[in-house]
Amino acid sequence: MSSASQQRSPGNRTRPDSRIQRAGFDFNFHMRRLCDDLVARVEQLRHVDMTRVAISFSQTRKATPYGMYASLTPMRFAGGRMHAIRRGQKWGVQRLYGDGGREMLYILNFYLPRFLDRGFREKLSTVVHELWHVSPEFNGDTRRLGGRCHAHGSSQAKYDAQVDALTDRYLALDPPGAVCEFLRLDYRQLAARHGRVFGRKIPAPKLIRVA
Ligand SMILES: [Zn+2]
Repeated sequence: MSSASQQRSPGNRTRPDSRIQRAGFDFNFHMRRLCDDLVARVEQLRHVDMTRVAISFSQTRKATPYGMYASLTPMRFAGGRMHAIRRGQKWGVQRLYGDGGREMLYILNFYLPRFLDRGFREKLSTVVHELWHVSPEFNGDTRRLGGRCHAHGSSQAKYDAQVDALTDRYLALDPPGAVCEFLRLDYRQLAARHGRVFGRKIPAPKLIRVA
């Protein structure tokens, strides 16, 4: 029996989603709600099935303004393949399953507090940037663009312009304040308001040698 159910008494009704009642700011819950809304509203992101995207965070000690704020880890190889041959060996990616037993095809990870300490617009466009990396086929691979770098295409500026346009589109669709509100606060403000910031950390998936 979990501690949560032990605390429940017959006269004390608990809402089905007890996570919202736990003290502290649940980063994963809020980020998922935002992503759900983004992919529901913005047509160009509708291929993203958030029920198969795991959300995670990593802690970073250095609060420098440079470096990564977020990342998207694909759980499949090029073209959505389960295996890849490298140096004569066959490799697969460690599988990851969600609470309902569904296999996750991507891990969307945020580096905290670094991510939370950016401005509102920058945080929102960072989320859009990572979601835009999801393959249009939603096959566990990333979107492959022509050019020097298949992730960002021939020019990072073009990729950023696309992300900017999608971010504008979302804001123009007038998303509910409650969904985006947390992006207006930085890490310290969120911690001060809620007591603490917590969430789920998912270890990076390992490459596994297939016999
Ligand atoms: Zn990127």
